[in-house]
Amino acid sequence: MLQNKFGIIFGVANKRSIAWATAEALHEAGARLAFTYQGERLKDNVEKLTSEMKGALVLPCDVVKQEEVDATFERLRQEFGRLDFLVHSIAFAPKEELEGEFLDTTREGFLTALEISAYSLAQVARAAAPLMTEGGSIVSMTYYGAEKVVPNYNVMGVAKAALEASTRYLASDLGKRNIRVNTISAGPINTLSARAVSNMSSMLKHHAERAPLRRNVEAREVGNTALFLCSPLSSGITGEVIHVDCGYNIMAV
Ligand code: NAP
Repeated sequence: MLQNKFGIIFGVANKRSIAWATAEALHEAGARLAFTYQGERLKDNVEKLTSEMKGALVLPCDVVKQEEVDATFERLRQEFGRLDFLVHSIAFAPKEELEGEFLDTTREGFLTALEISAYSLAQVARAAAPLMTEGGSIVSMTYYGAEKVVPNYNVMGVAKAALEASTRYLASDLGKRNIRVNTISAGPINTLSARAVSNMSSMLKHHAERAPLRRNVEAREVGNTALFLCSPLSSGITGEVIHVDCGYNIMAV
């Protein structure tokens, strides 16, 4: 489905990452992929994981360093010449902001969470758009804590609300270039980032009990939805928040 298509995936930390499950789905569909990692400590991990993917590019990119973002897209221009899709699967807030009350959020914690988890979507979309010369698809990852109060999610919920609103504004700006922008609202999955949220295990249990499908979602199910959003099968969809959460969000109690 994605033969001769080029994409970039931000946010593979390890094999549990939602970004990695997404990469596997996109790779199996035939796409050629570039990956970014944040900081030298993740370089080996990402290189090892991608070593069997033919033609995979692995590039350093911390989104708070504009020069790394610029260098990433310059390399894509040189190596791929064009970009068809971009997957944004990154988020960060200092651990101490993900417990206790939102009321106590520090200025620094707020700015960091919003910069890395929300502003970065507009930042990479702006850099990607000139390479999406045949149209394109941009997909990010959000969570229900953007819509409703989830204990301990705190400033990350506010950052995800900004990410979801950014999705709509970017979709409006980029639609005339046939670039679609959507976000997937994934149910809780036990990843490195998720473990930073205090009381994650009881959240997983609660979701599995309440969700109509009576289980938690798997990373690959999120990856498969990202594949759909990156493919022509979703050509009429833009600006949407698509829940992939075993139906949890439809329940009142
Ligand atoms: P993950 O494997 O820990 O992935 C998060 C990624 O963000 C990591 O690769 C991390 O790199 C990267 N990142 C953090 N700061 C960065 C920066 N300054 N520049 C570039 N990359 C940076 O966790 P995940 O659960 O798969 O998270 C992926 C996305 O899914 C996030 O947007 C998350 O909010 C969202 N999501 C997760 C869940 C869940 O329950 N797991 C549910 C809904 C949505 P480092 O490891 O170096 O920090």
